Amino acid sequence: MTTPASDAVALFEQLTGSTPAGVWSAPGRVNLIGEHTDYNDGFVLPFAIPHRTYAAVGTRDDGRIRVASTFTHDAVEVSLNELQTLFPTPTGSEPAVEEWAAYPLGVAWALQLAGATGTGVDIAIASDVPVGAGLSSSAAIEGATASALNDLWNAGLDRTALARIGRRSENEAVGAPTGIMDQMASMLGEADSAIFLDCRSLDANLVSVGVAEAGLAILVMDTRVKHAHSTGGYGERRAACERGAAIMGVPSLRDVSVDDLARAEGLMDDVTFRRVRHVVTENQRVLDTVQTLRENGARSIGDLLVASHASMRDDFEISVPELDTAVETALANGAIGARMTGGGFGGAAIALIEQSAVQDVTDAVTAAFAEKGFAAPNIFTVTPADGARRDS
Ligand code: ADP
Ligand code: MG
Repeated sequence: MTTPASDAVALFEQLTGSTPAGVWSAPGRVNLIGEHTDYNDGFVLPFAIPHRTYAAVGTRDDGRIRVASTFTHDAVEVSLNELQTLFPTPTGSEPAVEEWAAYPLGVAWALQLAGATGTGVDIAIASDVPVGAGLSSSAAIEGATASALNDLWNAGLDRTALARIGRRSENEAVGAPTGIMDQMASMLGEADSAIFLDCRSLDANLVSVGVAEAGLAILVMDTRVKHAHSTGGYGERRAACERGAAIMGVPSLRDVSVDDLARAEGLMDDVTFRRVRHVVTENQRVLDTVQTLRENGARSIGDLLVASHASMRDDFEISVPELDTAVETALANGAIGARMTGGGFGGAAIALIEQSAVQDVTDAVTAAFAEKGFAAPNIFTVTPADGARRDS
């Protein structure tokens, strides 16, 4: 049976005719709670999932970098010297290379900016992280590439620094204005734990999720509705948050509390206010979820998940009918809590359910999608898993 790790090695061998120097991997992530709070300097609570992206990497002596992926036919190759002329990608433009290749090449570029240098490399990528599903295949490809180059170029950067490298690639090479959450989750994940991250200080604390001990499971319901962060709604939501913070006279919405909302409402238009209210209440829900997990365990966080989904649906307006159907059907079939996860406009929802209910909830959500004429969802369970690592 092939695995993403063996697929990456096979692709490397096909590409170069030799064996790789090593294999590195980084996981996708699920965000338990805290959506669109990362770029507002706020709080998030993601965990790494067992699905991973693998990079089989070898050095070459001609100063060139080549990237290939099982997702696409053509490898992309440039000179390492050229990277600084290819990136950053001007705002609103397409990357100078195929978009997918801008993720790993942008990582090499950002590492160069951080002072790292080294030999040329061939990078072959394979993954079982669903792409564009809100499970952060982007942070996984960045994390696997950054970990490999950090080792091969002896850059000596720590995990937080590598997360920043990945984000820089995504923001400035790909041109997707995303926050730091995904990269931090992919770099810092640990089995059984979520990462309580303060996106202002990048202070990260592991919080035990304790789902299995409680007899519970976390179900991912990928709607297969694809989203794209480099276009459309994501950037508009960001702009609304910046507008709201400016009106409130603070550097970011992190500095607005739930008690300030009544005043905020009188200062801004209805749409901007609702965007602000989502971020401010979502930050509080993350804090409440961490406290609840620590004091009462996973069984007690259901209402917070449900409130988070309602806020994203009604105030931030980033849900879609498929996500709402997944959440509502899971709740109607006994889920303790459920919410969409990731940036929205498609992607996946999660449900916290009894272990014994996995099949029933899966069947119910699948049937509800069929009834509404939606494409069949991809439904599976996840457990919090380890972050980026060298595999061989
Ligand atoms: P998400 O992170 O939710 O999966 P994004 O739009 O942020 O969605 O990132 C998905 C993009 O990342 C893909 O369209 C592709 O360009 C790139 N990508 C992710 N994984 C791979 C891979 N294994 N091979 C090639 N490109 C990939
Ligand atoms: Mg992404």
